Amino acid sequence: MEVTAQVFLKPKKEESLLRFHPWIFSGAIRHIIGNPKEGDVVEVYTASNEFIALGHYQIGSIAVRILSFDPVDINQEFWNARIRRAFEARAALGLTNSATTNCYRLIHGEGDNLPGVIVDIYGDTAVVQSHSVGMYLSRDYIAEGIKQVYGNRIKAIYDKSEGTLPFKAGLNAKDEYIFGSAIDTPVLENGIKFNVSWEEGQKTGFFLDQRDNRELVGKYSKGRDVLNMFCYTGGFSLYALAGGANSVDSVDSSKKAMDMVDRNVEINFGINHNHTSYAEDAFEHLRTIDGKYDLIILDPPAFAKHNKVLNKALLGYRRLNALAFHKIKPGGILFTFSCSQVVTKEHFRNSVFTAAAISGRNVRILHQLTQPADHPINIYHPEGEYLKGLVLYVE
Ligand code: SAH
Repeated sequence: MEVTAQVFLKPKKEESLLRFHPWIFSGAIRHIIGNPKEGDVVEVYTASNEFIALGHYQIGSIAVRILSFDPVDINQEFWNARIRRAFEARAALGLTNSATTNCYRLIHGEGDNLPGVIVDIYGDTAVVQSHSVGMYLSRDYIAEGIKQVYGNRIKAIYDKSEGTLPFKAGLNAKDEYIFGSAIDTPVLENGIKFNVSWEEGQKTGFFLDQRDNRELVGKYSKGRDVLNMFCYTGGFSLYALAGGANSVDSVDSSKKAMDMVDRNVEINFGINHNHTSYAEDAFEHLRTIDGKYDLIILDPPAFAKHNKVLNKALLGYRRLNALAFHKIKPGGILFTFSCSQVVTKEHFRNSVFTAAAISGRNVRILHQLTQPADHPINIYHPEGEYLKGLVLYVE
């Protein structure tokens, strides 16, 4: 892609870039030579006219997302090389050639030095999701890079950016196959089968970021009565069943999600099982369950999507966790999560701590959880750490 403009920073505003932070905020810009459109590739210069980075131009508070700190051409080779490096990192994790897991995140935005795009692999299908116009306009390069790296192992590429692009950009993006067509087979995660619908489901179809945490639930489930709250397609429930739970109840307010849970239970365990589905509000359900469960999972949707609603979100986490502390059996284990990016580890821990104190129960922290290694955090972009979890032993 051609460079269309030069962005010049105010004095000292290059400091975060010297530490390789991948964003430039609009307030850091002194002037622009050229007239870039949203999504164009622009060069960035310091106040003393030295090249410092290049990236995708955006209209909004983040004005440039950095693609490179070197003056390189953003051509097909660039995309191939970045995608290959992401692939090699997943190969090092044993994810690209595993007999038991064939779904994983190939590209995690800033974590893979490609801010504004994620790519998830589900068997033979790659799902690309752009969060910036620059990445959306690069989707043919990205698709070609995926094909170059995987060869004929990838048979379809689905672009699911309709709901994630900046609304104002007016691109009229449509979710669609940009290569191949629908392949309808369940994926495997740690040997457990899941029907994943990237066309209709939330995110890219599945919450790949809970893989390791689901495995831990499996390890604690033997003989326990498990409640999986906000279960979506039943990820935690299936691991609990596989781990030998005495019973598993799954709750989600979405009827569609609960139908998926039932199908997922059936393809793994048949119809004679100890699993019950509830299409119900989580808060309502929690009120009715005195002493029934000795393992509870709380994995709610992000309560805060931006900073303005942070306090309200923290109260929400406190209220939800307080209910679970009140209701869980003595000796129970609580898995509790927050996936809100603006809620820090400390915020979350404080909310859960307050909830525990309100309940008056004796609580130990057994594990502190985060996102898995295929959702890496760029060390220069600590904001990329978004998933937080605590495993608690409740006396
Ligand atoms: N734990 C899931 C992901 C959870 S996503 C997994 O491992 O795949 C959050 C889910 O919460 C969504 O499926 C959404 O439908 C559900 N949800 C949102 N608000 C809810 C509420 N008040 N009660 C019950 N479920 C709710």
